[in-house]
Amino acid sequence: MNPRHHPASDWLLALGAGTLDEAQATVVAAHAEWCPACRVKVDCAEAIGGAMLASLPPTAMSVGAFDRFLQCMAATDNLREQGSAPSLNGFAHSGLPLSLAKFVPQGIDVLPWKHLAPGVRGVRLPIHSRRGIQLCLFEADPGAVFGSHTHGGSEMSLVLRGAYHVNGLRFGPGDSEDSEPGSRHMAVADPEEGCLCVAFIEGVNRPDGFLARLLQPFTGL
Ligand SMILES: [Zn+2]
Repeated sequence: MNPRHHPASDWLLALGAGTLDEAQATVVAAHAEWCPACRVKVDCAEAIGGAMLASLPPTAMSVGAFDRFLQCMAATDNLREQGSAPSLNGFAHSGLPLSLAKFVPQGIDVLPWKHLAPGVRGVRLPIHSRRGIQLCLFEADPGAVFGSHTHGGSEMSLVLRGAYHVNGLRFGPGDSEDSEPGSRHMAVADPEEGCLCVAFIEGVNRPDGFLARLLQPFTGL
């Protein structure tokens, strides 16, 4: 089933244009791997960017640039032969989107998960964000509650497995949820499936709710 909740078009265009921070790009790209409709928008943005580049005057390439390009292509071919390159649905053998799987090559079970609250675990992935944006995985048991919280910056979560519910809306596999700075909400993991999510988190969450406390081990807030 295709996702029902999608990132705003601005995020997709920014991904295609290559202007997102790595943490942001990972989450948006993971959704695009799931969602044919959003993948088309990303492809369009990339094509527009390519056309703009093509219209610029020729510029000499740096020494070795073409060799590095060929090496990258060869590496991609090798991955494909090993079966870890995009399959028809674009997922790695781990069952995670490829854009995310590259950060957890040994799988998520070996990550240093932290117990954050009853039924809720989280782990920050080792990503070097230029803007200090964090990339985190969250796992919640069936019915566990992500309590009310207010976002200090933009945030986007993507459901990888299971589902969670917000204000009567169900977010299942591949669904993304944008949160604007200052927005407030709470989520409840699906009572039967629980959920596994990835999220990028920007800025500081005000300490008026559960998520702020949830993030304390990561942010030191
Ligand atoms: Zn979509």
